[in-house]
Amino acid sequence: MSEFQSNVSKHEKFLKSSKPEKDSLESVNFWMSNLDITTYDFPYIYHLLAKSFLDWQHLSSSLPTMEYSMWTILGFDGSWVTGDVTISDYLKNEAPQLLDECLKDKIKVIADWNSELSSYNEKHTICLFPLFTRGCQELYAIMVCVLPRQKVESGGVEIASSMSILFQNCFYKRFEYIFVEDMMSEQKKANDEAARTAILFQIVERMHDQIDVDMILTEVLDSIAFLYPTASLQLFMSQDHQSDNPHVKPLILQTWKDDVRVRTFMDGKLTIQETKQENGEDKLEIGFPFGGTQGVYGVFYLLADKDFLNEVDLQLVTTLVDTAGNAFEKSKLYEQSNLLIQELRLINELTQRVNQSLRLSEIYQFSNEELLNIFKADFCCILQFNKKLDGLEVVSSNLPALEKEVFEKDYGFGGLVYGKGEPVILSGYTVNMRIPSKFMEYSGSESLIAAPLTVKGEVMGAILLSHRKSHYFTYDNYRLLQTLSSHIALSVSNALLHAEVKRMANRDVLTDLYVRRYLDEVIHERQTHDFCGSLIVVDIDQFKQVNDMHGHQQGDRILKQVSEIIRTSIRQSDLAARWGGEELAIYLPQFGVKQAIVVGERIRRRVEEETSPSVTVSCGISEWNWLDDQVSVDSLFYLADMALYRAKNNGRNQIQIEDKSITKAPGL
Ligand code: GH3
Ligand code: MG
Ligand code: MG
Repeated sequence: MSEFQSNVSKHEKFLKSSKPEKDSLESVNFWMSNLDITTYDFPYIYHLLAKSFLDWQHLSSSLPTMEYSMWTILGFDGSWVTGDVTISDYLKNEAPQLLDECLKDKIKVIADWNSELSSYNEKHTICLFPLFTRGCQELYAIMVCVLPRQKVESGGVEIASSMSILFQNCFYKRFEYIFVEDMMSEQKKANDEAARTAILFQIVERMHDQIDVDMILTEVLDSIAFLYPTASLQLFMSQDHQSDNPHVKPLILQTWKDDVRVRTFMDGKLTIQETKQENGEDKLEIGFPFGGTQGVYGVFYLLADKDFLNEVDLQLVTTLVDTAGNAFEKSKLYEQSNLLIQELRLINELTQRVNQSLRLSEIYQFSNEELLNIFKADFCCILQFNKKLDGLEVVSSNLPALEKEVFEKDYGFGGLVYGKGEPVILSGYTVNMRIPSKFMEYSGSESLIAAPLTVKGEVMGAILLSHRKSHYFTYDNYRLLQTLSSHIALSVSNALLHAEVKRMANRDVLTDLYVRRYLDEVIHERQTHDFCGSLIVVDIDQFKQVNDMHGHQQGDRILKQVSEIIRTSIRQSDLAARWGGEELAIYLPQFGVKQAIVVGERIRRRVEEETSPSVTVSCGISEWNWLDDQVSVDSLFYLADMALYRAKNNGRNQIQIEDKSITKAPGL
């Protein structure tokens, strides 16, 4: 409401009291005629008086009176408002008593025009018509007319008086018009506000129904685009949130420094800036911070015409963006808790699997599958450092081209992660191809996250995950992979440790050959499904003397040399063990005596030639096959031992095979 504030409550009262059964037009007319100005409004009505005077002049222009009369309008305090200013000056300077009389006594004043300054030739009369409000009859203006005295005699004053009534009507018509206009604009504002609130309500409701982060972003972008179709809107996210919506883009803080978007993000406040477009158009850049209670995640960036946005629109968009921010945060938390659950599930499953199998290849395979699943990545590659090959070996990958590949330990992203022991995130491989990577090239990937496999500070490999899309992985993904890789590394190291413990439990410390118990177990196990097998028992000749001559330590070294000769003279499937003291035994699965002699002979010859100080060995060989009666492990040993005994008796440094006439040891 403009000048007529004081009237509103009165009108409201009237509106409430008006009887509904009255004919509506009549009711409106009645209400309008009761509209009035009060003394409080008087200082503000000069503009209205001036406009009404123009209306009045327009209406009266064709009347003959206008040809000879002059008019002016004075305010409630006698000051000039509009019309002939000489009349006002005359009243102020030469005949103040006339104005005084009209103002104080509130009466019509008619007097002779005695102006010294007057340029009129004939005599004139001045008439002051007080104008009263239609309700309380307060004097709100004075209409003054100067006309030739001869016209007074022919009813000029009466005509002038009725013209002042016409002015009064013009004034009230203007007043009512302005009032109605005011009311209508208020009504329009209220309607607009209601429409906005309704839209806002719908949007807010829809947004809170969403738990999908992307849907929320799309919802708010669509809503603002719907409300302001001519403005261009984009959302810039600081943490590269992946969205299918083309209006969602990453916020690049480093390069845009003084940009509205960066300032909005840094200050967390609404930022508005005028800008000149390339085509010379003036525009407004507006940044709305997009965030929730925990922080700012991005910036809604609106490019609009200069006169486009007003307070209400800014407020509306701010509310929309804030609502979306809260909904986004809520769903982000939901998403994060889902990730956390997935993480716990993965750790749980990994641990379970490790406990089940303790097989490295299975752990890698399982990790590979789970990582692909949890990050919805396209490709995974797990690398382990191989000491023998001095390179990074692909131990698991869903990219067939990389199978069994071994990379230089400083090659590609695996090499980078392995070398530095730090994780890596990459959002665009082809635009920033500083590090060559077969993994990225073969898979046609653009995005990468990688983490080291570290145990107790020692890096033993790397995990690489990739996606064909650029900007695919988030920082959350990157952090999660770090956590997961440390769990995987722990599982891997447990498996390695377990294998080592198992190996050590079955090995003899001095010779690194298997222990007798293990050999027993293996022979026993193989006998259940093999067709045949041979056992060679190897005993160092005159070892007591070697010890006596060279010392026990030297004796140990010879024992190791003989063990090494045995290890390198047999197949991978054969099994060498320390039978006890300086006696060693070799089990050759699926070999008969004839083939065992070849192996035994090779060993005997090599020992003679390669040991230093030189020693010799004697061997006893026994065999079993599936046609025999059940041959126990003990009897197999007994037979070989008997053959060895013969070799010793025959002069040592030779091989003897079992005596077929003895089938088993006495008592066995
Ligand atoms: P042969 O077998 O030719 O009949 O003569 P030998 O001297 O080897 O006879 P014997 O089996 O009686 O002696 C085995 C010797 O091997 C006794 C022991 O001093 C030595 N010996 C057994 N185990 C070890 C060991 O771990 N280290 C060393 N240095 N000597 C060992
Ligand atoms: Mg011996
Ligand atoms: Mg012996």
